[in-house]
Amino acid sequence: MRRLGITSDYHAHVAANHARHNIRGGPTAGLHYEQSNAPGVFFPYHKTEVVGDKAHAPIRYPCLNDPAYQGQMTAKIEQDISNQVCYAPQSYSLAHEWNYRAYGSLSGPLDTCFCTNCQVGFRQYLRSEYGTLERLNKVWGSAFSDWDSVGALVLADAVAAGQIPRWIDHRRYADQIFADFFKLKLAALRKLDPAAEGGGINLRMSLTTLDSYSGVDFWKLYREAGIFSYLENPYVLAFTPPDSPRRRLLAELKAMWHPNCFAADPRLHQLRAGNLPWQALLEGARGFGYYEEYFFMPPYSPFQPILNADLTASQTIRNIAGAVDRIRAGLGHFLFDGRMADSHIALLYSRASEHAATAWQAINTNALASRLSPPERMGFYTKGLPALGYQFTALSDDQLAQGALDTAGIQLLILPFTQALSTGAVEQLRSCAVRTSSWRVPCHA
Ligand SMILES: [Zn+2]
Repeated sequence: MRRLGITSDYHAHVAANHARHNIRGGPTAGLHYEQSNAPGVFFPYHKTEVVGDKAHAPIRYPCLNDPAYQGQMTAKIEQDISNQVCYAPQSYSLAHEWNYRAYGSLSGPLDTCFCTNCQVGFRQYLRSEYGTLERLNKVWGSAFSDWDSVGALVLADAVAAGQIPRWIDHRRYADQIFADFFKLKLAALRKLDPAAEGGGINLRMSLTTLDSYSGVDFWKLYREAGIFSYLENPYVLAFTPPDSPRRRLLAELKAMWHPNCFAADPRLHQLRAGNLPWQALLEGARGFGYYEEYFFMPPYSPFQPILNADLTASQTIRNIAGAVDRIRAGLGHFLFDGRMADSHIALLYSRASEHAATAWQAINTNALASRLSPPERMGFYTKGLPALGYQFTALSDDQLAQGALDTAGIQLLILPFTQALSTGAVEQLRSCAVRTSSWRVPCHA
């Protein structure tokens, strides 16, 4: 591997052999494959499920807010990495194909969690958001007389009560729980490896899935919790702080068996393999990751291992490694020192608007509502703009509220499905509209 120029091995245990050849690993740490009850196979040795009053007050078991579960997670991370830290891993894999829905195993509207810990936490969250009970009652349309009786509602009940903001706040709190859980994981890592970075890769939340129940708020995860990911969505590059050490981990990950890469014609297949690292470089990646194909796959499948049966390197991996070699040889530096072209276009990312859209679909059951998918609306622009030769960046509501229109020189802001803007964001839009007549804000609400 080292002779091929491979410098790291992510999402695998670090072997002493890797370290000996200066290949830095990316061990898995406390992963959550929660599909089975089989003890000892995957943490936490039990299956994730919804329990309690499923219709009106569902509980996520295990709850990410449960101190006992958090303790198990911390212990598992320590157990996973304590004998690997000495090999100086490049980073750690904290979650893969996992989110608040567990390993995709919890489906449907998942209005968790109503456990005691979450009820207490929700009230604290609301106190910091609203300050006073009067403000909360005004926004919710409720009539609580003391904080201890304040609680959440599932979507159907919120629609029946006409209290959609109450439901949205509960989903936002679930997003916070999910982000906070990653903070705990990072803290557990850094107890053993103080400079450690942790990744959450493929959180099963693509641009084509509308999901208020995933817990995935990309802005919170990449900025507030501070996890890294591959360049699997536009938010990774846009939300990772410019001066963060995580930027060295912004790699592009490709697999030759994926339909957008695989070609039946072997010459075309190899040509594509050699082009992939160059494409990654031009898209702003600092590295190229190859999703190794399974060694045990039969020869007639598109899955091809990086090693031939005689343990020589396959043609595919040699073509990829050759491209990486040429990038390292010099032209790569030229590009690294260059600046990405900038069309001064931004797409607003608003998790609150996703929740508002989910509620809007529950209230409106017509054909238009059923077709609304915020991530697809994002997808229209994230695919369409590059196809027309434009670059874009994603902009969170927080960034907008903090004045990013000016500091990032944004000339066109697209609000693809915006139904909820913070007051700070509204102020910024208003002041920009007043200052310059060239402003246009297309809005599909
Ligand atoms: Zn809970």
